[in-house]
Amino acid sequence: RPSAFAALSSRRGSVNCELLPSSPLQLIAPYVEAEWELILKGWLCSAVSVYCLARFVPKMGQLSSVMGRYGPERLLVEVMKLASLGVIRSVACYLQQAYLWEAALRAVCKIRVDVFGKLVHRDLGFFEGRGGIPTGEVAHRITAEAKDVADTVFALLNTSLPNALQLMAMATQMVVISPVLSFISALVIPLMSLVVAHLGERLRKISQEAQSSAARLSAYLNEVLQSMLVVKANNAELSETSRFQKFAYDDLTKLLKKRRAKVFVPEIVKVIHIGGTLLLCAAAVLASRGLFDSSYMVSFIISVALLVDPIEGMGKAFNELKQGEPAIERLFNLTNFRPQVIEKPNAVDRDSVAGDIKFCDVTFRYEETTRPVLDRLNLHIRPGETVAFVGPSGGGKTTLTKLLLRLYDPQSGQILLDDEDIKGIRLRSLRGHIGLVSQDVALFSGTVAENIGYKDLMGEINMELVEKAARTANAVEFIRNLPDGYDTDLGQKGSVLSGGQRQRLAIARALYQESSILILDEATSALDSRSEGLVRQSLESLTANHTVLVIAHRVETVLMADRIFLLDGGQLEEVSRSAFLSRDGKPAPPMANGLIV
Ligand code: ADP
Ligand code: MG
Repeated sequence: RPSAFAALSSRRGSVNCELLPSSPLQLIAPYVEAEWELILKGWLCSAVSVYCLARFVPKMGQLSSVMGRYGPERLLVEVMKLASLGVIRSVACYLQQAYLWEAALRAVCKIRVDVFGKLVHRDLGFFEGRGGIPTGEVAHRITAEAKDVADTVFALLNTSLPNALQLMAMATQMVVISPVLSFISALVIPLMSLVVAHLGERLRKISQEAQSSAARLSAYLNEVLQSMLVVKANNAELSETSRFQKFAYDDLTKLLKKRRAKVFVPEIVKVIHIGGTLLLCAAAVLASRGLFDSSYMVSFIISVALLVDPIEGMGKAFNELKQGEPAIERLFNLTNFRPQVIEKPNAVDRDSVAGDIKFCDVTFRYEETTRPVLDRLNLHIRPGETVAFVGPSGGGKTTLTKLLLRLYDPQSGQILLDDEDIKGIRLRSLRGHIGLVSQDVALFSGTVAENIGYKDLMGEINMELVEKAARTANAVEFIRNLPDGYDTDLGQKGSVLSGGQRQRLAIARALYQESSILILDEATSALDSRSEGLVRQSLESLTANHTVLVIAHRVETVLMADRIFLLDGGQLEEVSRSAFLSRDGKPAPPMANGLIV
C-alpha cells in the first residue's frame, strides 16, 4: 500500500519505518478481538452495573419526596433496597474491570510474543547496522512501552461500551423527565467534545516526545552499564554522571510537559460539570415555577451528574488512546521490515554437504554509499581443506564469513556450496551445516550444558555430545571446577568466566553442531598460549574431516592451515606458508614478515 506507507513515513519522518499496513487501532484489533470472551463478560457486568444505576436514580428521586411520610420500618426497607442496588453495582464494576484488564493484558502479552517472534527473524543488518534502532531502545519498546499499550487497550474496553450504556441510560432518564432541559444539555456537550478532541491531538504529540526521550535514556543506560570496566578504567564516572544528568533532565522536561498536559486536559473536561451545574440552576428555576415535581428534579440532577461521568471517562480514554498510539506504532514498527536476505520458495534442504566452497566474483558493501568491503572476490576452498585468513582489522574477514552464512547477500557474484548457489539452500539447512565461533563470544543465561548444546535448546540436549565437544575444546578442566559442573548457571556468573574460558565454551558450542564446515573467527585470540596450543591440537584433529575457515592472528594457528590468504582492500591474495616461518623453519614472530597477522 504505497499511499498509506508514504503518509505514515512522512508523518514520522523516519527511515526505519517502511510500511506500516494500517492505523494503530487496526494493528491491535486482531489481538483484542481474540479476547472476545473476556470482553463479553466484562461488558455484561457493565450492563448490570448501568442497570443498577438506572434503577437507582428514579428510586432516589421518589424516596426523597416521600421520605417524610414513611414510618421508620418502611424507610429502613426502602433504604436497604437502594443500598443493595449499590452493592450489586460495586461488585459488577469490580468484575467488569477485572475481566477487561485480563483481556487487555493478555492481548498485549500476545502482541509482545508476536513482535519478538518477528523481530528475531529480521536481518542481522538491523541489529548491527548503523543508524538503526539501538538495542536498548528495542528492549524499551517491548518492555516499558508495551505496558502503555496495555493501558490504552484497557481504557478503550472499559469506556467504550460501558460508558455508552451509561450515557444512553442517563440521557433517556433526562429526556423522560424534561425534554427542554435535555435539549440544552445536548447543545453544551458536543461543543465540549470538540475542545477535548483538539487537546487530545496535542497530547499525542507531547507524549510521543516523552516516549522517545525515555527510550533514549534507557538505551544510554544499557550501554554504560555494560561497559562499567571501561568507564572505571578511564576514570569516566563523573563525565558519565554528567552525561546521564543531561539525558535525565531532557527526560524531565518532556515528562513535565506530558504530565502538565495530562492534568490539564481532564480539567477542561471538568468544565462540563460547570455546564451541568448551570443546567441544574435552570432546573431549579423551572421547578420553583411548579413546572415539574420536585422528586423528578432530584432524579434529573442525579442523571446529569451521572451523564457527565461517562463523558469525562471518554475524554480520559481518548487521551489514553492518543498517548498509546505512538507506543503501538513504535512497537509494531519493530516487525515492519522488508527482509534483505530472502529464502526462495523452492529452496531445498541439504542432508549433508561435502564442504566445497566457491566465491565467484563476489562484491559486497554494507551501505550503498561506502566502498565495497569485498571487491570481485574469487575463492575456492576444497572439501576438508583448512584455509586461514589474515589481514588488517577491518579488512573484511568477518564479512566474508557472514556472506557464507547468508547473514548478508552480496550485491553481485555468487557463493556456491558443493557447486550449488547457497541461495538455493534453505537458510536453516545452510546454517545448520556451518559451525561458527564468532569474534565476540556470546554466552546466554542458562547452564553450561545449555550453552554448549544451544542448538538443541528446544529439544533434548545430548550430554554425550556436550562432553565430547567440551573435551575437544579443552574446556573440561575448568567446567569441572565450576560449582555445579555442566549444570552451573551462567546467568549471573557468565561474566565471571575469563575471556579464554568463554571462548572455549563458544568453540565447544560450534563443535556440538557436528557440522562439516567450521568457521573460527579469531577463536583462539583470547587464549593464553598454553590453552591455545591445546585447543589448536584438538582443532588439528578436526581439520581432517572438516572444511575449516580460520581467521587468526597467531602465526601458530595460521600455520595450521593448508593455504593462507591475505584479505586487504577487498582483495584476496594467497600467501605462502614460508612467509610465516623464519629461516630455521620455526614460526616467525607475527610482525617480522611485514604482514599484520
Ligand atoms: P575484519 O573482520 O577483517 O576485521 P570486518 O569484516 O568486521 O573486518 O569489517 C569490514 C569492514 O566493514 C569494516 O570497515 C567495518 O567497519 C565494516 N562493517 C562491518 N560490519 C558492518 C555493518 N554491520 N555495517 C556497516 N559496516 C560494517
Ligand atoms: Mg573480524
